[in-house]
Amino acid sequence: MGATPTAAVLDAGNLQQLLDILQKQNYQTVGPTVRDNAVVYEHIQSVEDLPRGWTDEQTNGRYRLTHGKGKKFFGYVHGPNSWKKFLYPPARQLYAADRMKHRFDVVAPEPSGIKPALIGVRACELAAIMVQDRVLMDGEYIDPEYKARRQNAVIVAVNCTRAGGTCFCASMNTGPRVQEGYDILLTEVVDSHGHYFTVETASEKGRAIAAQLATSPASEEQLAAARQAVDKAARQMGRTLDLTDLKDSLYRGFDSIHWEKVAGRCLTCGNCTMVCPTCFCVNVEDTTALTGEQAFRIRRWDSCFTVDFSYIHGGSIRATDYSRYRQWLLHKLAYWQDQFGVVGCVGCGRCITWCPVGIDITEEARAVKG
Ligand code: SF4
Ligand code: SF4
Repeated sequence: MGATPTAAVLDAGNLQQLLDILQKQNYQTVGPTVRDNAVVYEHIQSVEDLPRGWTDEQTNGRYRLTHGKGKKFFGYVHGPNSWKKFLYPPARQLYAADRMKHRFDVVAPEPSGIKPALIGVRACELAAIMVQDRVLMDGEYIDPEYKARRQNAVIVAVNCTRAGGTCFCASMNTGPRVQEGYDILLTEVVDSHGHYFTVETASEKGRAIAAQLATSPASEEQLAAARQAVDKAARQMGRTLDLTDLKDSLYRGFDSIHWEKVAGRCLTCGNCTMVCPTCFCVNVEDTTALTGEQAFRIRRWDSCFTVDFSYIHGGSIRATDYSRYRQWLLHKLAYWQDQFGVVGCVGCGRCITWCPVGIDITEEARAVKG
């Protein structure tokens, strides 16, 4: 076995070791796989589950997967899923109430104890997790399940060596190179040295796992090849969002006529919020068992694009399409900065790809700023 690597090399043929080590330590290994013609994040058991050789084409409202001759495991750019479904599940029971003779007992579930190992986390996605940390565990109101899963999680990040058609992380300073927040960082390279990963570690947890891999010391050439591959991804990125004066200029555009123009195209379907790795809005539902003996309070992901989301005392405060689109964009790019000290968008581009009418947040922000 190789020494504890700070910059080591793992032959691609040995990638399964990583999954084996994590599974032996009772981690739930989740990672990318192909399902329904998209790369999604699911529980994976073996490297055979990874989307080896698959790449994607993405642009406004369009996503296509193709299987080429390439042999990279991580040659795709993220699909519609984000890691939030493993850290902040789409539905969670907040409590159950059991009817007793003259009272009812309320039982809140303990944190589940799940240990997720997130394999293949990209730079923008890691930035999104850190944004959600601020909202869900670093502030005044803590979500116990989220906090437990975050603390139990191992993050195996992967640098992007190809930019997707809708990515703009470089202009958001969130990618394509992973900077912080990971346990293990892999960069996948295929060149004259073969097919390998450079392996870096940034935590004790990561170092302990990486020390069990059959790595060898990375040569200068291999490290340079990995650096160049990531630099190439940054250069490929076609879209940008200018952060200069972003918050104040958007506030100044609150009454812009542009919002009505976007609303003329927006279907208020909420796709953009469902695919966004930083959106965290939820609804709370109460249900009763048919026997009448139990009631449940369930939290579910919700979207600010629904009329009911802002229903208060007899009416919705955002009844128009344009007010809901404006709320979403201003929250991401402006209000979020006041609430949480960061921009709520990491430039992943999902909301552009998965918008059925191809609305592009970078263009709309530019138009309102203008
Ligand atoms: S911007 Fe696009 S994805 Fe978002 S609600 Fe409107 S139509 Fe749906
Ligand atoms: S707003 Fe769009 S580009 Fe920004 S993080 Fe959310 S899905 Fe990604």
